[in-house]
Amino acid sequence: MKIVNSKNSSRQGGIKNVYIWGAYDILHDGHIKFIENAKKLGDVYVILISDKVVKKYKKLYFKAFIRKKHLLKTGLVKNVFIDALPNMKCFNKIAPDIFVFGYDQNKEWNNILKKYILERFPGCKFKTLKQYSETHSSHLKSKILCYCGSGKKFVDCCGK
Ligand SMILES: [Zn+2]
Repeated sequence: MKIVNSKNSSRQGGIKNVYIWGAYDILHDGHIKFIENAKKLGDVYVILISDKVVKKYKKLYFKAFIRKKHLLKTGLVKNVFIDALPNMKCFNKIAPDIFVFGYDQNKEWNNILKKYILERFPGCKFKTLKQYSETHSSHLKSKILCYCGSGKKFVDCCGK
């Protein structure tokens, strides 16, 4: 089904709605540079993957509402939607003009999302940005102490 009444859809010559998606668990310079570059294309909206879905494949340091707060605090993003497939409600509010993927994001998931978007917004364009930083969340997670207060490293405690 194609959504025709979404706000800001395909504004001619106007500011584009640029979407990115991810867990953005521990926000670092790589994320920031990525978002800054996505912002060059238009207004950035983040699909923040819900706790339930992220936890299926990796441990989370921060819950979604905190991850959202960190993203909004950067001042680089227009809004953050906590959402997940198979029903992306955010697109009913803001139609995507451009979807930007990170160089290291899961291709299989990206393709599932791409298919989902193209069925609804055939005019949406897709872009994959190059690597901007050597920082990885997994590397940071191997260094920090656990949030539970045990004094152990996060990776050796509640997180893996
Ligand atoms: Zn712990």
